[in-house]
Amino acid sequence: MKNIILTGDRPTGKLHLGHYVGSLKRRVELQNSGKYDKIYIEIADSQAITDNAHNLDKVRENVIEVALDYLACGIDPNKTTIFVQSQIPELCELTFYYLNLVTLSRLERNPTIKEEIKLRNFETSIPAGFLTYPISQAADITLFDANIIPVGDDQLPMIEQTREIVRSFNNLYDNVLVEPKELLPDNEVCSRLPGLDGKAKMSKSLNNCIYLSDEPEVIEKKIMSMFTDPNHLKVEDPGKVEGNPVFIYLDAFCTNEHFKKYLPEYNNLDELKAHYQRGGLGDVKIKRFLNNIIQEELKPIRERRKEYEKNIKEVYKILEEGSLKAREAASIKMKEVKNVMGLNYFEDTTLIEEQVKKYSNN
Ligand code: ATP
Ligand code: MG
Repeated sequence: MKNIILTGDRPTGKLHLGHYVGSLKRRVELQNSGKYDKIYIEIADSQAITDNAHNLDKVRENVIEVALDYLACGIDPNKTTIFVQSQIPELCELTFYYLNLVTLSRLERNPTIKEEIKLRNFETSIPAGFLTYPISQAADITLFDANIIPVGDDQLPMIEQTREIVRSFNNLYDNVLVEPKELLPDNEVCSRLPGLDGKAKMSKSLNNCIYLSDEPEVIEKKIMSMFTDPNHLKVEDPGKVEGNPVFIYLDAFCTNEHFKKYLPEYNNLDELKAHYQRGGLGDVKIKRFLNNIIQEELKPIRERRKEYEKNIKEVYKILEEGSLKAREAASIKMKEVKNVMGLNYFEDTTLIEEQVKKYSNN
């Protein structure tokens, strides 16, 4: 079996640290390992329309932003096919068939969708496209025969839904779809990086992000005003590290090397945490430390982005070529799918012969 990776992001804003640790950093490592037969990254603009139908400019404008972020992080268009979802009409076609393999109540049980509906105050006016976007995600994955999906944990229900569709389809028609498996970050805190405000998830929709393209002063300002332990008022007070986003970010980003470089009075994160918990360690000090680490991580990304920003036309060209390449693969797979569903009337000589025979007896 081939090992094919597919992931993507919605063009609803620039990419942030959550995307980076949850998926993007891993994609670059996988790409550079040279171990995979094919790697696809989808800019999911059609999916973004499901909750932005009245604000299409936002989606349109962010396609290039997401592409710039990919390139800035080291996604190499010679190794990875970056494509734009709306340019692959076969994805709509396949979604339409899959819609019949899933019940409404199954869609309503999806925990990520439930959370997102609440967040968007959709209540009783949920756009049908929004409720069904996990089905379109199943089309994204299966149309490219992808079996490895590097994602944050909010995507687990989508991948489970995809596997269910694959099993139903393969049982009903023929065994042509591949069951995908998620690839979560090794470090558990990276599966769902919290927001600067301490909310469970850093998310474009929640406006609680450090963007990969933020300027150094902006990053510093955001980090220095981060939520910490609300009961840690004075330096002497004992502080809590659990659920404290500053420590969660340190868990995600800091190494012992960082201590040597920026905070040599501690050897490692355990020592820093122990001091915070005993009391006598101020928030400003740990925030400064975190700022140094994040600045170091984001500087090369920001600088590479600025280089690509000088060549916007070339970046659109990369997306156009990637979309053409993806479409080639998509149309081959779509044909296979339609064949096993019997939607191939004009090529199926047996069917034509049978019908001819049926009517020749009259
Ligand atoms: P939106 O609010 O528009 O849904 P988002 O910030 O949730 O945006 P997506 O484009 O939906 O971003 O997610 C793209 C990928 O990034 C998914 O694989 C998702 O799991 C991952 N991801 C997003 N936010 C985080 C986070 N805070 N921590 C870890 N992974 C994340
Ligand atoms: Mg999302």
